[in-house]
This record gives sequence, structure tokens and C-alpha cells, in this order.
Amino acid sequence: MPKTFRLLPLACTLLLFGAAAWQAATEAQSQGRRYAMALHETLAKNPPAQPLQTGTNPGLTIVTPLHPLTPLNSPKPAYNTTNYSTTPTPTPAKYSAAPAPLYNTSAAPAYGNRGAADQPFTCQLLNEQGQSVLPSAFVRGNGRVFLLAPDCLYMANQPLPSPESGGTLNLITFNKPGFSQVAGTPGTLPIPVHEFVNLVYNPFRQTVFVLDKSGDIFEFDPQKQSWGVLRANLPSGGSPDPEYIDLCLSPAAYPASSAHAATNAGAPSPPVLNRLNLLDPERNQIWKLALTKSGPVPPQMKKSFPEIMPWRVGPGNPSVAESIALSFDTIYYVLRNFSQSGQIGLIRPISESAVQQSRLPIRGMKRIRPTRMVSQPGLPLYIVERENNRVLAVDKHTGATRPFLFNGQSDLRGVCPDACGFWVIDGNKLTYRQLSKPDSLAVANHPPVRTIDDRLKKLHLPIVGINLPRHAGVYPGARRLYRYGVHEGMDFFYGGGTAKIYMGSPVVAAADGKIIRADANFHDMNLATLNRVMADCVREHRTSDKNEDLFRGCQVWIDHGNNMITRYAHLDKINSNIKVGQTVRHGDLIGFVGVSGTGQNLPGRTKYPHLHFEIWLDGKYLGYGLTPAETVGIFENIFGTI
Ligand SMILES: [Zn+2]
Repeated sequence: MPKTFRLLPLACTLLLFGAAAWQAATEAQSQGRRYAMALHETLAKNPPAQPLQTGTNPGLTIVTPLHPLTPLNSPKPAYNTTNYSTTPTPTPAKYSAAPAPLYNTSAAPAYGNRGAADQPFTCQLLNEQGQSVLPSAFVRGNGRVFLLAPDCLYMANQPLPSPESGGTLNLITFNKPGFSQVAGTPGTLPIPVHEFVNLVYNPFRQTVFVLDKSGDIFEFDPQKQSWGVLRANLPSGGSPDPEYIDLCLSPAAYPASSAHAATNAGAPSPPVLNRLNLLDPERNQIWKLALTKSGPVPPQMKKSFPEIMPWRVGPGNPSVAESIALSFDTIYYVLRNFSQSGQIGLIRPISESAVQQSRLPIRGMKRIRPTRMVSQPGLPLYIVERENNRVLAVDKHTGATRPFLFNGQSDLRGVCPDACGFWVIDGNKLTYRQLSKPDSLAVANHPPVRTIDDRLKKLHLPIVGINLPRHAGVYPGARRLYRYGVHEGMDFFYGGGTAKIYMGSPVVAAADGKIIRADANFHDMNLATLNRVMADCVREHRTSDKNEDLFRGCQVWIDHGNNMITRYAHLDKINSNIKVGQTVRHGDLIGFVGVSGTGQNLPGRTKYPHLHFEIWLDGKYLGYGLTPAETVGIFENIFGTI
């Protein structure tokens, strides 16, 4: 689907595509030259200029910061130190102001001498029917464990087992609620729930906050076992729309460290976590939502620092652009960088609207491909590298990093730390690793890349000479807030490799298969239809399947067998030689890039031609249930490094 905003992808391309990227792209040019180069010569030479779009913000109430940004790159240490310990304690780790080295790996093992492959360090996850489940994230709270899947929340009315004994978590399933706009309809919410993506447990309200991919935040009350809406998202009006991809809690008081002040007895008291923070790389912001103890939460959010759009960020500006994860422990930890490597940004709030910024190197590691980050006070930062089969423990003080290796069939998702190590979701089970024990897979046996589904291995990119985009907002799973939906495909706006994309650029089959849809006599939406569809989206707070199909415009679908389908959308027209039922080979010309379904074919509108490309596996789009970074990771594994 199109983005209403077109500048950011272009800006990102201009900023990020250096000489090395262009050089790499020329290598991709060699694959598939079945169609005549003469086609290229007939194409327009330059895409339309991208106007800067500005706008008001009727939906999202943004409180403008009152204070200018404090100069960055402070030479002073940017954060308080915390005390890491491998000593087993019966209570959660405490805050400490005392500097201390990284967790001590020479200390006595916390739990026996068993290896990681032993059952005792494994926890099975079973639902009410005794079936395995595949959660993506989990947290603990008030003696319970909560696990998240795209369509439901699981709750265990028991704590995690002792790693030494291992065991089973018996889960209660809470499906995402239905919706009804008729007030008072039992068991429904006034807005629909999209794919769940992440969660936190809030001890202040004793509830679980769950973020979905359209940016709505829901709340689950474990006592009442009921759902509510914490905050319904709205388009910002300006461009781009915010995109919330991670969330964490913090105290509202600033400076935050004051909330950790020692009590009279000298023991630090836990802070009151009465602020929800939302990471928004699209608008380069950490949004702050003030929580109340109970009841409705005012929807207004504040900025953590003055607004500087990602493409305008300069040296010294605060930046969470291209970031993928957020954590808080007296300061914000922001996991930065898109796909290529990882870097942790340290953002220290110094007032309600100003921050200091510095960096924490991830020492001892070469290229990493981070997908998630989790942290708790007094414990290391844990970075999950799903596609590299690793979990990294990073010392918050020094950046010293220790990798924990897993096998090629692993599927590493959420992490839940304790004082001695961490549990990580590995497919349909939890696995425990100890900080104090070198219990990783032997390095020699460690596969550098996760095993991907065999079906995906035969796919090629659908435009010859193109590279994967370097902007998460065009990948599947990104919010499409203007239509209250979630993007189910990949947008190719620009070449990135040797290809350039114009109206009429050739689109080719990504793999061998059979044509199952080809919109030969396509007629685009007229203005009345487009307005009706947009009104539906606003009224329903979603994009219905029928309307989503209209937004895709002129399409070709190819069935590759074994429950894999690819879709090619917004085409200007299809190749008149292809017919439904016909077999095609990868690289065969199937259609031409256009703007159909976007409204840009209407008179007087600027055209921003792009190919919208979807991959469907077993009835779900590729990217379903994954975080943005996980999605990028799997696309890289299929099509090559960005
Ligand atoms: Zn799209």
C-alpha cells in the first residue's frame, strides 16, 4: 500500500545509499535478463520530485517542548552505573549507585553444572489443550508470566520454574477481543485489534500493556481477565505518521535517577513506573504517556526532545531514527541501526523536554543483526539476534559483550532476565542460560545464519537490478495509519541497486509458479469510491479486506505451490500476454510499475510510482507476527544483505 508520505523513503535513500551500496547493487544486476532492455529506454528518466509535506496534527496532541536541547556528546559518563551480580538472590536485583564491573563470569555457577541442552534448563509452553504455542515476547508480573502471540495473550498463574528443575508453564489463552462500535456490546472493544507486537507489565496499574502494529495500545487486567483500550491511535495529520515499535516504562519524575534515591534505611526503593514510553523511529521521537493509577489514561503524549525529522538529523541532534528497541534503567537505552550493525544510544533525560545523548559501544562483536532488546534495572542489556542465533549480554557500564550461541533451528524471540541469567523464547519453548557459565553452543558448531523455510529460498526480487530498501517503514508489518491498517507487503519506490523505478518499470515473477490473478481490464477507483473507502477506514478504525484489495489496485498473484503466493500491486498494467492459469518462470515479465489503487491516478495528483510486493506463506503475509527488525532480518536471509 502507498504511504501518504513520500519524502522519507527518498530521504533515507539519499542519506544512506553510499558508494558501497551502489557497488553491491551492481552485482545484483546480473540475475534474470529475460525481457528486452529496450523496455527501459521507453521509460521516463526521472521520478517526480518529492515535495516536502507539512501538515497540522489534529489527531495526535503533541506538547511542544519548552526548553532547547542540551548540547550532546557530553564527555561525562552519560548514565549512572548499576551493579551486576551473578549471585543468586531470592528477590529481584536492587538498584545500586555503586559502580561495579560486568557480571563476574568467574563466579561459581548459579545452577549446578548442566549444559544448555539439558532439559532442566528448558521450560515447555502448553495451552489448555496441551498443545505447544509460539509466542514472540514475554514478561513477568505479580507472580504471573505473560506471553504474547500475534492474536492472543497467554497467561500462566505461576512463576517461571527454577532453571535448575526446568518444567512446564500451563497457559491460559486470552484471544484478542472482537470489536463493536455499538457501545456496551459484551466482550468487545470499540476499536479492532490488529497484530499484537509487544507488551510490558505495569506494576503501577497491575495490568499488561499490549502494543499492536497499527499503534493502538491495549490493556489486559489479569485480575478481571478483561481487555480495555489504553490509547487509540490516530493519524498525526503531518507526515510521516508516528510509528510505535517498542515500549517501556519509566518513572515520570525527572531527573529519573532521583526516583531511585535511597530510602532512610539505605535500601533503594523501586521507582513508580507511571510513564509509558513509545519508541517512534519514523518521527524520531520517544513519546511519553502519563499513566494514572487506574481508570482511563489521557491520550495526550509529550515529546522527550524537540522534533527533528529523521532526514534532518545532524551531528549532535538527538536521534532514535533507524532504531529498533527501547529500554529504560535510569536512562533510555535505544538500540540503533537498521540491519547492518548495532549500536546502543544512551539518552539521559535532563528535563521534561531535553536530553543528553551518548553512545555505548557493543564491544567485542563484529557485525551484529539485532532484533530485540530487553533490560531490567541492575542487569545487563540483552540483545536478541534472531537471524544470527545469538543472544548478547551487554554490560551497561562498559559495553563489554558476551554472546550466547544457539543452533540453526533456533527461533529466538523475547527475553526475560533474572538475577543470574535469562530465559529466552526459542520457538515453542523457553531456554535458560546462565551469565556465569560458558554454556553456549561451541563456536565451531554455531551457524551464522538461521535456517529459513525452504519455500522462501527460491524467491528473487521482483524488479531486476533492485536492492532491498533500507527503511523499515516500507517493509511488511509497518503501520499504515492513514487507512488504520498494517502494511502487508514491501514497497519498492526506488532502485537502490542498478534499477530505477518509474511509471512502467518492468515487474517480473519472483519465482516459478502459476498465475492465479491477473487484472487485465482494470479500472481504478474514481474519487467518489476513494472517498467512500477512506471514510470506511476512519469509521471502522481498520482497512477491511475488501477495501485493502481496492488499495492494491491492479494486481497479479502467483501461486508457487506449497502454500506460498506472491502478489504484485499498484501496477500500471499487466503484461497482456499473461493469463490466469498460465505457468510462469522466475524472471518472466508480468506487469509494469504504476500507482493504481493509491488515488494518484486521479486528475491533478502527483504520481509516486512504486511496486507493492507481498509474500504469503500458509495464509499469512511474510512479516506477520514479527517485529520490524525481525522482518528485515528474514528478508535479508532470503534476498541478501541490504
Ligand atoms: Zn505498499
